[in-house]
This record gives sequence, C-alpha cells and structure tokens, in this order.
Amino acid sequence: MLNSTWSQTALIVVDFQNDFCPGGSLAVPQGDEIYPVVQDLINDFQDHDRPIVLTRDYHPFNHVSFKKRGGPWPDHCVQGTQGAEFFPQLRVPPSAAHFLKGYLEDVDAYSGFEGRLAANGSITEVTLASWLGSHDVKRLYITGLATDYCVKATAMDATSAGFDTTVITNGIKGVNVSPHDSDQALHEMQERGVHLMEWPISHG
Ligand SMILES: [Zn+2]
Repeated sequence: MLNSTWSQTALIVVDFQNDFCPGGSLAVPQGDEIYPVVQDLINDFQDHDRPIVLTRDYHPFNHVSFKKRGGPWPDHCVQGTQGAEFFPQLRVPPSAAHFLKGYLEDVDAYSGFEGRLAANGSITEVTLASWLGSHDVKRLYITGLATDYCVKATAMDATSAGFDTTVITNGIKGVNVSPHDSDQALHEMQERGVHLMEWPISHG
C-alpha cells in the first residue's frame, strides 16, 4: 500500500482458530490456506505500527449455538480447549488487541463488533467500535474465517459503523453450507459499500 493509506488504518483478523481449520470441529474447507496472507497482513501492519485486532469465538461448553442446545453448529471454540486457540503457525504480535465473542452461554455472536476486549486475563466492557475510535481508526482491512458468517457480519457492522472497509479476498474462506453462500456474502458486502481486494504478499 502507499504510505498515505496506512494512516488511520487497522487490521482485523476474524476467528482464525483451530476449530475452523481442517481437523477442527467446525472446519471451513481449506481454511488453513489463508495462513500466508493473514501472516503477511499481520507482519505488514506491525511493520507500519498500525493496530492489529484479532477476534475469537470463545464459547462456554454449553453454548446456545451448539446442536445439543438446539443451535445450528457442532460444539466449537470451547473455552480452554485447543479448538479455541489460534491456528498454530500464526505469529501474533504482543501489541495485538484481542476481542472475544460468544462467551456467554445464552448469547451468540458472529460479528467482531459484538465482541469485548480481553486484557490481563479478563474480558472487559470495551467494544470493538469504541476501541477503534480511541485509536483514531477510520479504515479497516478484514481477513479470516468464515466468509459467509463472521467475516461477513464483521464487515457489515464495520461499514454500518462508518468505517471504510476492505475485505481481503485471498485472506478469507467460506463454509458454503450451500455452494454459493460465499459468493452471495461477497455480493451483499459490496452492495453495502465494502471494498474487495486481493492482497499482494510481500514477505514471500
Ligand atoms: Zn461460534
């Protein structure tokens, strides 16, 4: 990117967790293949000293979204399990901000904007929108899993909240319960003013 475009820009990495990658309980097909793009984005934003946000699904074992409670999904991203951890190769800078969502038993959340900042081992009341505002962020680049759920929800909320929002097309993968869900999601995002961009990997 041009130097001027880095100002007021932050990166959001959505739910790049073991349970959403192949071998996980709610695996997104080829979800692991976004790794080089996600890592390159993190490295570039770190190099430019720009804010990096990572969201995680972080459910209690008896979460309302689980099939055993009548929800749509198998158990996934349960607090304290490997499934809730980041993709193992991911190198997360110490300065990154962590937002957790779906951490209450009876509340589900797809969008990172429904999350709360985790700091010093506890979940605070700080919302993503307020955190971004306090860091003077106006532009967002979004990558992660899954295109048709949490990436879409996060991008829709971002643009609704007034952020200039770009989704990195080679840094996302979809669940595709129906074959065209991801295409449909991208179309809906564009209609709402979200930009789509392929990220040129610079670090190899
Ligand atoms: Zn979930």
